[in-house]
Amino acid sequence: MTILTRENWLARATQVTPRTQAFIDGQFVDALSGKTFEDVSPRDGCVIAHVAECDQDDIDRAVTAARRAFEDGRWSSQDPAARKRVLLKLAELIRDHLEELALLETLDVGKPISDSLAVDVPFAANCFQWYAETIDKTYDEIAPRRTSALALITREPMGVVGAVVPWNYPLIISAWKLAPALATGNSVVLKPAEQSPLTALRLAELAMEAGLPPGVLNVVPGYGPTAGAALGRHMEVDKLTFTGSTEVGKLFLRYASESNMKAVSLECGGKSPQIVLADAPDLDAAASGIAWGIFYNQGETCHAGSRVLVERPIREALIEKVRQVAGTITLADPLDPGAKIGAIVDKTQMERILYYITQGTQEGAQIRLGGTRVMVETGGYYISPTIFAGVRHQMSIAREEIFGPVLSVIDFDTPEEAVRIANDTHYGLAASVWTQNITTAHRMARALRAGTVWINCFDVSDLTVPFGGFKQSGTGRDKSLHALEQYTQLKTTWIQL
Ligand code: NAD
Repeated sequence: MTILTRENWLARATQVTPRTQAFIDGQFVDALSGKTFEDVSPRDGCVIAHVAECDQDDIDRAVTAARRAFEDGRWSSQDPAARKRVLLKLAELIRDHLEELALLETLDVGKPISDSLAVDVPFAANCFQWYAETIDKTYDEIAPRRTSALALITREPMGVVGAVVPWNYPLIISAWKLAPALATGNSVVLKPAEQSPLTALRLAELAMEAGLPPGVLNVVPGYGPTAGAALGRHMEVDKLTFTGSTEVGKLFLRYASESNMKAVSLECGGKSPQIVLADAPDLDAAASGIAWGIFYNQGETCHAGSRVLVERPIREALIEKVRQVAGTITLADPLDPGAKIGAIVDKTQMERILYYITQGTQEGAQIRLGGTRVMVETGGYYISPTIFAGVRHQMSIAREEIFGPVLSVIDFDTPEEAVRIANDTHYGLAASVWTQNITTAHRMARALRAGTVWINCFDVSDLTVPFGGFKQSGTGRDKSLHALEQYTQLKTTWIQL
């Protein structure tokens, strides 16, 4: 692959034609109201597309198409091996369109093009491949019965799945939902975030090209309180899978209870602690894990290690090392292949982050790095990597999810105190412990109330392990074989012999 320069990417950006209509029943269509919304690129604040603004009527049309496709068995009754072939083809098509998808993702959400190329697009392709390869090797069960009866326990698709996703990893999170849902035979209506509809629309087109029958995957761009709520409340949606904020996650529970009791799984926010003990085996590695753990993807990562809990004697040494690593993480135009931090997704999110930076200062924490908006002349939304020291865990910057490149450093004196502070949050998505004492590591890992605990590393993962939260970080798990449980339900068939 030739390495493209910023100028090459800029030229391509003028040539790319985003799909802007909704994708329903195998076709691109306008919203029934004819309305569109502006899709703004955060790299320069310019409008890059006018996208169909779907509302309740469009959701209804998409759910009806999905229901029809499910009931007539065009996908749900196919042999698993046949579904596998289509999903493997989709993985291949995603790889074939690597540069186009990466460019759309970067323009839409402002993440560095090098990450879109190396992470977002390939990870999405791998996800479709992984579930495709899984689905014809997954067996049902026979209950242990006497010979007078045969009791079968089978997993069946839920039916119509509604998927509502956020803007921080649009392709990857869509793939985490779509791949297991489609592999198990469901039909899906996907609502991308209003900030990031472009790759989802292109993905739907590629899925058709791969052989997915019409109606099995529908994509309805639109706003949360209209399109998202209509999907959450729809009586013909059997399962709703959501990734986004805790606040909106709770709304989906309400929508389900006020409509048809659809099954709901939620991947929500986080305030993940990285705990560094004085005996950490390699402080340089810890500093690197900490800096990348918060500054990667501009800090717009649900499990970002936004709190560092450090044993008091090594605090200053650690902060200095994190500062040094942060200095090597280049903030630039996301279309610059050298950029490692790009733009914040939109103006609202940028202002929210700046608000928290002001709050942190007013509450008495000290800024040790960054803390300002930069590259204002571009018209885009950029914030420099920011480190706060002297943070007490009652402060808002230590308790609330900022969802930006802002690190809060908190001191502790004993491992017990560290665990207490780490768990004193209503989130529970992820945590890490840096120590060379295997007993301490193991005890702390068990004591931490989080869906993932990393020991002497951070954000290392692949599709083989589940991902999701304890407490108000969510219910249910994406990734791994366990995700299949979310998109299927058990049926007992008792045959009297
Ligand atoms: P958000 O909750 O505002 O939006 C997520 C989705 O919900 C979007 O598609 C949006 O349109 C929709 N939505 C918004 N309001 C709605 C409403 N009233 N009714 C129905 N749908 C509605 O979140 P965001 O700002 O897009 O993303 C950031 C949040 O997502 C952060 O809290 C982050 O931690 C979380 N997140 C969690 C995970 C995870 O796996 N746990 C992964 C990524 C992001």
